[in-house]
Amino acid sequence: MSNLAIAAIRRFHYYLSYKKSFNLVIIFGLCSVLPSIQAADFKVIHAGELLSIAGEKSTKQQSILIKDGKITAIKKGYIDLAADQITANDTLEYIDLKNSFVMSGLMDMHVHLQGELGPNNDSESLRMSDADVAMKSAYFANKTLLAGFTTVRDLGAKPEQIYALRDAVNIGWIPGPRIIASGGVSVTGGHGDVDGKSPDLLDMLTSKTICDGPFDCRRATRRAIKYGADVIKITSTGGVLSDTNTGTGQQMANDELKEVIDAAHALGRKVASHAHAAEGINAALRAGVDSIEHGSYANKESIKLFKKSGAYLVPTLLAGDTVVQMAKAEGGFMSDAIKAKAIRVGHDMQNNFSSAYKAGVKIAFGTDSGVSHHGDNAKEAILMSQGGMSNQDILVSATINGADLIDMSASLGTLEQGKQADIIAMKSSPLDNISALLDVHFVMKSGSVHKQ
Ligand SMILES: [Zn+2]
Repeated sequence: MSNLAIAAIRRFHYYLSYKKSFNLVIIFGLCSVLPSIQAADFKVIHAGELLSIAGEKSTKQQSILIKDGKITAIKKGYIDLAADQITANDTLEYIDLKNSFVMSGLMDMHVHLQGELGPNNDSESLRMSDADVAMKSAYFANKTLLAGFTTVRDLGAKPEQIYALRDAVNIGWIPGPRIIASGGVSVTGGHGDVDGKSPDLLDMLTSKTICDGPFDCRRATRRAIKYGADVIKITSTGGVLSDTNTGTGQQMANDELKEVIDAAHALGRKVASHAHAAEGINAALRAGVDSIEHGSYANKESIKLFKKSGAYLVPTLLAGDTVVQMAKAEGGFMSDAIKAKAIRVGHDMQNNFSSAYKAGVKIAFGTDSGVSHHGDNAKEAILMSQGGMSNQDILVSATINGADLIDMSASLGTLEQGKQADIIAMKSSPLDNISALLDVHFVMKSGSVHKQ
């Protein structure tokens, strides 16, 4: 049954439970219909080379058995499903990936699905309606999925729009990766706040989760969660693209960081902190943050804190690379101050990544796509490889580590019995050459084929 049909039935059930006056005859009537439409959906993938668990050895000639979106077994050889395992109402499809390398769907822990950086950003933000932005986000979500990214964490968007996009994908209204959507909490005038506009516009555009002082930041965090945040995104330091004179130093005070992180954890949410300068990285790590985004100027103390706390570094090398190229291009939309900042920080990001990786910091794959083009997410892997990371570790960072960071290891990150059938395929092995990830030709998410 399609996700849409399931959603429709769920909604109908909800309607029935809501309308208490509805008589039971209709409920019984519906229930008597349900068994006949609860047919199972079987799929069998014949994989030429299979990497079920990144970090372990791949195996040749395997079959992945899938029922209703979940993996039921992985078996040696190209097997057929026994006739007595399916009934007349069930559907069964064989998928031939005998000439492909097959692995778990990729996970990008840092995207911005609502837009792409470019010269028209400012005028678009004033011209486009929320509905326009939602349509554009849906387009970018699909591009991301077709590139092999079956799960993403969106770390910065207009909250109502990204929550709606996440929910629409989950229901099955539109194709897209599974979205872990953030609510942003930032201080007045900080990197997560709006700038560079007239005072009236700034008043209109300022988010209700901009906060100052520990108690106000506790309120902002709880508010973000109330309205639908899966994860809290904070900006403990300045950023590359915000036109403030504060550079990339610490912006959120220690007491504000602590309050946000404690309030989020108390309500079961993790916290991701954008951070460039070491003092901001270290303050966020000391306050108990779950991931540091960018982490450009991590120092020796940061490495110690990373390892002590178990927090992840999400390097976003692609963002660094993209802004350097944009800053060096003729003309462009960046002010001279931002250009200088972009070139400096972009270069430093790559060096920091190499030393953090060598020191054994846990790394989760993340691109900051939206700075770069959506659908180009796998280019991050090339930059990670250039930074000295092994191909095997890159695949771990983009599967197992992503799942761990979003607390979904029980259902995502590897191809094993009971897990979601999030499966991609490419022509050659990324273990031999990581650029194979750029050419994903098959994408399945929860058992539904999106690209073949
Ligand atoms: Zn970002």
